Amino acid sequence: MQVFKFGGASVRDAQGVRNVAGIIQQQRPNNLLVVVSAMGETTNALEQLTWAYLRRQGDQELIWQRIRAYHEQIIRDLTNKPEAFEPVYSLFSEVETMLNQEPEPHQHPDKVYDHLVSYGELLSTRIVNAYLNQSGLDSYWVDARRLVRTDDSYREGKVDWEQTCEYITDTLADLLETGVAITQGFIGSTGEGYTTTLGRDGSDYTAAIFAHCLNAEGVTIWKDVPGVLNADPKWFDETVKIDQLTYQDAIELAYYGATVIHPKTIKPLQNKNIPLYVRSFLHPQETGTAIGQFEKHLPIPSFIFKMNQTLISLHPKDFSFIAEENLSKIFGQFAEYGVKINLMQNTAISFSVVVDHRPERLARLMPNLQEDFRISYNEGLELITIRHYDEKTIDRVLVNKKLLVEQKSRYTVQLVVKDL
Ligand code: ASP
Ligand code: MG
Repeated sequence: MQVFKFGGASVRDAQGVRNVAGIIQQQRPNNLLVVVSAMGETTNALEQLTWAYLRRQGDQELIWQRIRAYHEQIIRDLTNKPEAFEPVYSLFSEVETMLNQEPEPHQHPDKVYDHLVSYGELLSTRIVNAYLNQSGLDSYWVDARRLVRTDDSYREGKVDWEQTCEYITDTLADLLETGVAITQGFIGSTGEGYTTTLGRDGSDYTAAIFAHCLNAEGVTIWKDVPGVLNADPKWFDETVKIDQLTYQDAIELAYYGATVIHPKTIKPLQNKNIPLYVRSFLHPQETGTAIGQFEKHLPIPSFIFKMNQTLISLHPKDFSFIAEENLSKIFGQFAEYGVKINLMQNTAISFSVVVDHRPERLARLMPNLQEDFRISYNEGLELITIRHYDEKTIDRVLVNKKLLVEQKSRYTVQLVVKDL
């Protein structure tokens, strides 16, 4: 069987839903599981709705009416029989019932977040499923909350693989021998039945979870780009599409910040040697990129740009060496305050890290470090990672830039730069 994943951009309007249905139908569908994200920017809007609901500020009613109207418009554009979309209206009512109640005083905000935000995927899959049924395809709507079991780390649920695979195979293995099922990306639930989410952009990961448990022959992520490119077209002209990518290169690229695939997606597939295809929903006849077990490494240098980076250098106040105890203290603090290190480098008596500029988190971390370290700061930087670099590519990205830190390994160079 095959797994397809469609992201929010592919179903952002009625035209998108029709296109997705067309792609599904073209595959002469049987043995197909389809994972769909929330439509367009719905997840962002639901986040806002959650904060408005919890903090009792902002315009909860207005935000919700916009979300509802957006989905209703898509339904109107898809059908003149809105009755067939009844399950969508039930979901609207569920949200409205909740919004009309006061938030429970001691509930963890992240738990409320997961509950409300999950409606983005529930709505989109109900709409896509109803549209497929209306177009003559008997697809089944499957509730991913009943199948993807996580712990109670709300907003970043950790998957219980054993339970999840058991539920998924029990529910879907037979059905998918002949049929098509539609389910939600990004969401799951705890053993007590509370909804969880897997972290923003987690739908790719969901597709990998289902594929892993069902021993799929392949997973296809349908995107608005032709495949995996060697750089984000936002920062780079003349990007090149990569036809074949090893799992290892794909993991490395995702780790350093390439946004094309969610970083957690590769491992469950690699462990079962399931290929991942990245293809364009705008040009479904084209082949895209295949990620799998290939002999050859990345054929061309790939570039990853991270903007708005901060370089922090720590100097022990007592001039002690940067060694195991210092490092474990430093790493402990960074982990505790949730500041992810994008690059690190040390000398005998200084330790430098590059992190995303997140002032609230840094403001909480700094006072703790200041007890033992003198700290210097450099903001507004760019972190450039080049996988399979050569001197020419380095020169190319350094034009009009001042180089502050450079770190090279055999396959990867990282450069921290500032505009000149
Ligand atoms: N809808 C969720 C998000 O926007 C999950 C996803 O799109 O992958 O983060
Ligand atoms: Mg999304």
